[in-house]
Amino acid sequence: MPDSTDLLPPSLRAVALQSRNTLALRAEAAVLRVFTAPEQVAALGRHAAQGARGWVLGGGSNLVLPASVAGEVWQMALRGITLEDETREHWLVRAAGGEPWHEFVAACVARGWGGLENLALIPGTVGAAPVQNIGAYGLELAERVHSVEAYEIPAKRWRRLAAAECGFGYRDSRFKRAAPGHWMITAVTFALPRRWQPRLDYPDLRRWPGWEEAPPKPETVFDAVCAIRRAKLPDPARLPNAGSFFKNPIVPAAQAAALRERHPGVPAWPQTDGGVKLAAAWLIEQAGWKGRRLGPVGMHERHALVLVNHGDAVGDDVLRLAGAVQADVRIRFGVTLEIEPVRIADALGDI
Ligand SMILES: Cc1cc2nc3c(=O)[nH]c(=O)nc-3n(C[C@H](O)[C@H](O)[C@H](O)COP(=O)(O)OP(=O)(O)OC[C@H]3O[C@@H](n4cnc5c(N)ncnc54)[C@H](O)[C@@H]3O)c2cc1C
Repeated sequence: MPDSTDLLPPSLRAVALQSRNTLALRAEAAVLRVFTAPEQVAALGRHAAQGARGWVLGGGSNLVLPASVAGEVWQMALRGITLEDETREHWLVRAAGGEPWHEFVAACVARGWGGLENLALIPGTVGAAPVQNIGAYGLELAERVHSVEAYEIPAKRWRRLAAAECGFGYRDSRFKRAAPGHWMITAVTFALPRRWQPRLDYPDLRRWPGWEEAPPKPETVFDAVCAIRRAKLPDPARLPNAGSFFKNPIVPAAQAAALRERHPGVPAWPQTDGGVKLAAAWLIEQAGWKGRRLGPVGMHERHALVLVNHGDAVGDDVLRLAGAVQADVRIRFGVTLEIEPVRIADALGDI
């Protein structure tokens, strides 16, 4: 594929990003380019080799942006959904990186390809989904990924990575660990099981009243997940937020046992690797932050884990609150909370 920088999408200058991030943080990009074709993506290698620095924007639902964004913003907007192949076990369904995630899940369910319905209603794009290995209601994306197509910008080459090469972990992957602007994910192929089984381990889903009337199907699980999420989570269009703001911390078993002795109520789930996952929401609530504000931002009054923007916040307001919550949880429980969204720096280093 030719890689001339003439093929780059036009650069839009001094673009306000407030409507392009779900925390509605006031932020400005010096340059924004919207990528709608693979040959535009292939031009990025040469552009970066000539000194350009930037990072990839999807739907902006997992970001903390600085007021002034350094470098270029490369927005992924490639579209298209195709059935690539059918094996005895799977439908192999490929979606371009700029497809909106929820609409893609809905399209799969409508065509009879079950397997992603537990991840319905997660905001953002298909291309960003592998970055933090999105997960919800008892399912992680990694369980359904067949392969990820990406352009590796500094190496100027296209890659097709099998799921095992993506380094998936809890809200983590090799893409999340890489420097900003290293990868641009252009498509993801999913292996969706032809012999579909409902995944109803999550308590809210298991207790869903609909299963008394009819056995679950992909579309009814999809509807149940949407209804549960709508009832529980604040809509970013009404109250700007980025979903869960902190990861559930995983601590060594001995530390978890000591904590449970002092605080018997702490929700804890043993992991297969011997660690124990603790409920970050509980720690935050016990530390007194549920519903509390600091400046224009605060922790949601019903969901201690969700940081919300009540006014005209900038990234620094968010980081100040996050730091205060982290300090109080550390003092009270000796546990360090890790921020889940990606912090975009106000300076970009090497990619
Ligand atoms: C209300 C709400 C609920 C949420 N619920 C969940 C949930 O249940 N589970 C969950 O896991 N997450 C959840 N999230 C977080 C978020 O929706 C996901 O992380 C989502 O995948 C982010 O997609 P995005 O397109 O908005 O990415 P962005 O926020 O635009 O970007 C996130 C990161 O991915 C990188 N990136 C984006 N696109 C690409 C690409 N094409 N190639 C390479 N890198 C890329 C960016 O550079 C950045 O580092 C929630 C968020 C909100 C606001």
